[in-house]
Amino acid sequence: MMRDDVQERFADGAQYIAGRPATGTSGRTHSVIDPSTGTEVYTYELAGTDDVDRAVAAARAAFPEWSAATPGERSDALHRFAAVLADRAEDVARVESLQCGKPLKLTREFDVPGTIDNTAFFAGAARHLQGQSAGEYSGDHTSYVRREPIGVIGSIAPWNYPLQMAAWKILPAIAAGNTIVLKPAELTPLTSLLFARAATYAGIPDGVINIVTGTGKEAGEHLVGHPDVAMTSFTGSTTVGRRVAEIATATVKRLHLELGGKAPFVVFDDADLEAAVHGAVAGALINTGQDCTAATRAYVQRSLYEEFVARTAALMETVRLGDPFAPGTDLGPLISHVQRDRVAGFVDRARAYARVVTGGEAPGGDLKDGAYYRPTLIADAPQDSEIVQSEIFGPVLVVLPFDSDDEGIRLANDTPYGLAASAWTRDVYRANRATREIRSGCVWVNDHIPIISEMPHGGFDASGFGKDMSSYSFEEYTQIKHVMFDNTAVARKDWHRTIFGDRQ
Ligand code: NAD
Repeated sequence: MMRDDVQERFADGAQYIAGRPATGTSGRTHSVIDPSTGTEVYTYELAGTDDVDRAVAAARAAFPEWSAATPGERSDALHRFAAVLADRAEDVARVESLQCGKPLKLTREFDVPGTIDNTAFFAGAARHLQGQSAGEYSGDHTSYVRREPIGVIGSIAPWNYPLQMAAWKILPAIAAGNTIVLKPAELTPLTSLLFARAATYAGIPDGVINIVTGTGKEAGEHLVGHPDVAMTSFTGSTTVGRRVAEIATATVKRLHLELGGKAPFVVFDDADLEAAVHGAVAGALINTGQDCTAATRAYVQRSLYEEFVARTAALMETVRLGDPFAPGTDLGPLISHVQRDRVAGFVDRARAYARVVTGGEAPGGDLKDGAYYRPTLIADAPQDSEIVQSEIFGPVLVVLPFDSDDEGIRLANDTPYGLAASAWTRDVYRANRATREIRSGCVWVNDHIPIISEMPHGGFDASGFGKDMSSYSFEEYTQIKHVMFDNTAVARKDWHRTIFGDRQ
């Protein structure tokens, strides 16, 4: 895909309602910027509240038929969807790289194959509704549980993995028989639109998947508060998540929140240092650090600390920043100049109390117009400082020493977040303890980042609640109903004594 044909390809607008592209009617426009150059690639009309209403109405209209389809029919549709995505993989990877500035090797090898695999996983999951066995639990009745779709789901996604976030929200919801309205981030609507188009091409009925691209305040809040939306599923920052929770709670909706993270990376003194250094650099820089599970706080046991700092800094310096489409590029820009300046602000404030070992600046030369920032390692920051406690969402790793195992685990748990963590050790007892005692939704041992469709992703504490991917997420998009049949066929039941007493 050429950078300059996006306007033409998405000329019908950045909304997708009832199986067709549409133009937003808010009266305001927004531009998608290529963050590697700062140039505009697509300007579109933002969705207003009327567009959200139309999308919710389309989803509502599609619900009876889609929810009544057999699991096998939904599964077949999702298998066809996975095949269409596989056919379009290269195009989708290029569009994702363009709107996010992700190196093409990342979108080709991670974002897009991960999405296809998720689609195939939920095609299978659609046929595997799980529940308790039916039985005569009371003695006089047969009880069983039905697992039913919830209705119209309203989902809101961030810009860091637009395609995967669309997939994580849409797939379990529709596999379970719901219909959905997804609001992507304003900066990155394009691959959500491609995803919806592919679904239509694969035969998923109109209205099952709808996309509204508008601002959080206008389209987002209207979607969350909408009376015809039965559940809100949100991925984004903890601050916005709180606001979303308020609105969803006020309108009594089921709520699923995937929020921020500040993942610890704990290196014990028996760790394979070579593995830990490579794991830290890759785990911190994945997606230019704009990953909610990225390694952000490395705690290294004292005897390895200095060597870890020196080797990690040296390895970071070998990472090649560049044009996302150039074959030699390891790392692209941040999503926007605003985000780059935000990251630079955290690092600049940290200079007053910590040591910037490497990085800490934007590169010049050919990259000066893009939202680039050099991989940055910060040492000697106090545990309670901003750089250790706050989510930075950029290519910045902070490293701190610890002495005892107790201290390492205590420090790992010492932020409000609990999304992901890793422990680096060759001692099975230490590893096992870390996996038990670190409070987070995922703990890796001797690795950091890999995710798989079969296993849940989601947080503890300020990182939210609810799971994406896996059969656990599928369950979140269903509600269970207890059905109870009387087996006695007698008019006057024994328990009626509580009402009628001796007049039985
Ligand atoms: P953000 O919270 O600013 O925005 C996320 C989405 O919410 C966007 O679509 C935005 O338009 C919308 N929004 C903003 N204000 C809103 C409002 N008042 N009501 C309704 N919607 C509103 O987050 P971001 O900057 O796009 O993404 C980065 C954040 O996402 C980070 O905090 C990151 O950790 C988090 N994230 C979490 C996960 C996870 O699985 N836990 C995954 C990816 C990203």
